[in-house]
Amino acid sequence: MSETYDYDLFVIGAGSGGVRAARLTALGGKRVAVAEEFRVGGTCVIRGCVPKKFMVMASEVSHALEIAEGYGWSFEGASFDWPKFIQTKDVEIARLSGIYAANLGKAGVDLVHGRAVLKDAHTVEILKKDGGRDRIITAEKILIATGGRPWKPDDLPGVEHAITSEEAFHLPELPKRILIAGGGYIAVEFAGIFAGLGVETTLLYRGPNILRGFDDDVRAHLAGEIEKRGIKVILGSRHASIEQTETGLLNRLENGHDIETDVVMFATGRVPYVQGLGLETAGVALTENGAIKVDGFSRTTADNIWAIGDVTDRMNLTPVAIREAVAFHETVYRDNPQAFDYDAVATAVFSQPPVGVVGLTESEARHSCPGAVDVYLTRFRPMKYAFTGSDERVLMKLVVDAASQKVVGVHIVGPEAPEMIQLAAIAVKAGLTKAQWDATCAVHPTMAEELVTLKEKQASGHVSAG
Ligand code: NDP
Repeated sequence: MSETYDYDLFVIGAGSGGVRAARLTALGGKRVAVAEEFRVGGTCVIRGCVPKKFMVMASEVSHALEIAEGYGWSFEGASFDWPKFIQTKDVEIARLSGIYAANLGKAGVDLVHGRAVLKDAHTVEILKKDGGRDRIITAEKILIATGGRPWKPDDLPGVEHAITSEEAFHLPELPKRILIAGGGYIAVEFAGIFAGLGVETTLLYRGPNILRGFDDDVRAHLAGEIEKRGIKVILGSRHASIEQTETGLLNRLENGHDIETDVVMFATGRVPYVQGLGLETAGVALTENGAIKVDGFSRTTADNIWAIGDVTDRMNLTPVAIREAVAFHETVYRDNPQAFDYDAVATAVFSQPPVGVVGLTESEARHSCPGAVDVYLTRFRPMKYAFTGSDERVLMKLVVDAASQKVVGVHIVGPEAPEMIQLAAIAVKAGLTKAQWDATCAVHPTMAEELVTLKEKQASGHVSAG
């Protein structure tokens, strides 16, 4: 322990990554403080994964009611109260944020409310909300975990009328019409949320199909399924401008179409939150994309400063930030150098229906597997929809390295896909073969049983519909 400094470790940012690193290190007997300028919990708890999932669950009820009617239930006069929901959600988020703060306290971490700015490699200045100087703190080591911020194209005429996901969590009323720009996780998830709540929803994406980077069959299948849920999907175009009219916001598109909505939301990516941190002063360099440059052990270009989570723009997922925090702690404080393994990290898109994927897409496998690739694919109507008029379909796809017979990718679109993929990820991470998957007896009747009963290989040379 160094008495030269106020703390052994000073963490900037009390989100998922920062909190985990701070707690582990304090529990290990070090003097730790964490600075947070907003609310403890970070993006995930305050304005990301958690409130988003509550919104998805609120929205999915409308679909559940439709299914229920097929089973003989009736819900005449059922209605949804947006302000009541937002209030309930905010109470729960405040409770969770409080638990995070309490857990920091129990671990012996000092919580510093304010904005931390690096003055040199061992010194941070804490600024108050009004920008005034609060105090100077020194630390032997510093960990930056400030996360990311939504980005929208600032040069677009009228962009000031548009919101991002941050404001979407607090809209005073549910709009009648919304246009969401973007085709990634956030765009697809919020399009599902608003459509499920009865909002006339348009998704505008510049590329040929949504969810770039996902398996082409997943992309094509999901685009079809969300259209079945009433979302209007416009591909291959972008905004030319946004204009305020007497009746709403006029979205003028580059393809010449005009669409009037009440709300326009940009979900066009997030950027590392590095502004005003004083990184240069401390010798912390950035990558070309504006993220903090780190090595495999999350060490920045300054010897005593590390960075984890979205601010490093490696794999921007909460559980990954937490694993990076653990690896940082093991490496720096437990003499056990650990680099997080980004291979076979499962991920879910909470669209409606949701997506769960792990491992390689078919196209990635065709590039990286030395020999051929076997593809097993099924589309079917879930049993739950038997009594409804719905023609919704589930997609399940296994990508197998033909030479080793290892299952290298699993892709699911359909109800409970996020729950299924967590378990499938164990088998993919463990490198199990298709024969080992097949040796696992099915659970019947479930959707997941398809994963262990897929027999028919797709003809080789099959080109995915992407
Ligand atoms: P993404 O990077 O996933 O998607 C951004 C979208 O915006 C892409 O479709 C991109 O198009 C489009 N875009 C970018 N620039 C422009 C532009 N100038 N004009 C029009 N469209 C543009 O970002 P998100 O904001 O959706 O999410 C950020 C990250 O947060 C995700 O990548 C993910 O890591 C994480 N996240 C994870 C979730 C989960 O785990 N369920 C949920 C939400 C977020 P193109 O594809 O052509 O580049």
